[in-house]
Amino acid sequence: MLKKLKIKYFLAIALAAIAALTVMLLGHDWLPAESQNQTQAQNKPTESATTKTVSFQNAGLQLQEVAPGVHALIASTDFPPASPAVAICNGGIVIGSDSVLVIDPFQTSELAELMLSTVKSLTDKPIKYVLNTHYHADHTGGNSVFIKRDIPVIGRGVIREYIQSGKNNTAGITPPNTIINSQTDLWLGDRQVRIERVDGHSAGTDLVAYIPDAKVLFTGDMVFNKRIPYTGDSDIRQWQGSLYRLIATFPEAKIIPGHGDVTDVTGLQAQQAYFSGLERLALEWKGQILTKEQALEKFAKVPDLYKDYKFKGLYSINLESAYEQFTRSAIIPLIP
Ligand SMILES: [Zn+2]
Repeated sequence: MLKKLKIKYFLAIALAAIAALTVMLLGHDWLPAESQNQTQAQNKPTESATTKTVSFQNAGLQLQEVAPGVHALIASTDFPPASPAVAICNGGIVIGSDSVLVIDPFQTSELAELMLSTVKSLTDKPIKYVLNTHYHADHTGGNSVFIKRDIPVIGRGVIREYIQSGKNNTAGITPPNTIINSQTDLWLGDRQVRIERVDGHSAGTDLVAYIPDAKVLFTGDMVFNKRIPYTGDSDIRQWQGSLYRLIATFPEAKIIPGHGDVTDVTGLQAQQAYFSGLERLALEWKGQILTKEQALEKFAKVPDLYKDYKFKGLYSINLESAYEQFTRSAIIPLIP
């Protein structure tokens, strides 16, 4: 009996130790202390408690002045982020002679408030416009913070309809209230910002912003720098076409991608090369008459060429998009 109790006691201790170890490994202990605090703050019931606590460090953002009066907030997190408080995408702040443009106010009100306080720390000039480079939630979730302050939020095409229908997890997000459908110049006093349409990433809502006097191009998600791109909404050939045009039009621009570090024309070229590789792969599948399931299984491993890339979890979506868009065997049978 005593022996049995001892064994039970030993088992209980061993189980407790395993449980503790599991919590340590799988829980949030691998996050920096700041992120842990943020995760806890996220669980608090009042919104205002989190609004005031988010910092660059908690948000995983770094502020960089890429040209005089042109600032980028660069996100370094992998996907999915450690907590909802960590920004996934990059944002921008363009300061003109009398006003400011904000680009992509992140996925939450807290992060949009951080954007707002960052603008205030850089300049006394008012925010005149906010731009959504496309409709995805990581770029538009903070819109309400600006709309509440009567600052127009600009988007393209069917962006309102997409967000209002909750497409791609956008339910509850405030859509832009100013829609443009063609190339548009915004003026921040005497500073020009050229907004151009591009295509391929987000089903007709993609825009880029170019500041001619600084030679800086905010590409939105046309560029995922050293990250596997999100292609769930894509038309890769259109995306390729837009990349060709951006390379030809802005060969000397400093590029602020939607995700990843600041780059230049080489970032546009790398994105293009990535898609060319994906297309070649899909044509190979077509030659081998692989079914989608076979292709996805056989080529599931992210190629070594992209071993330094983040967002690897998105790779299978890339394979699926490539299969559907390039082999078309789901629609047209390959064997007559
Ligand atoms: Zn994005």
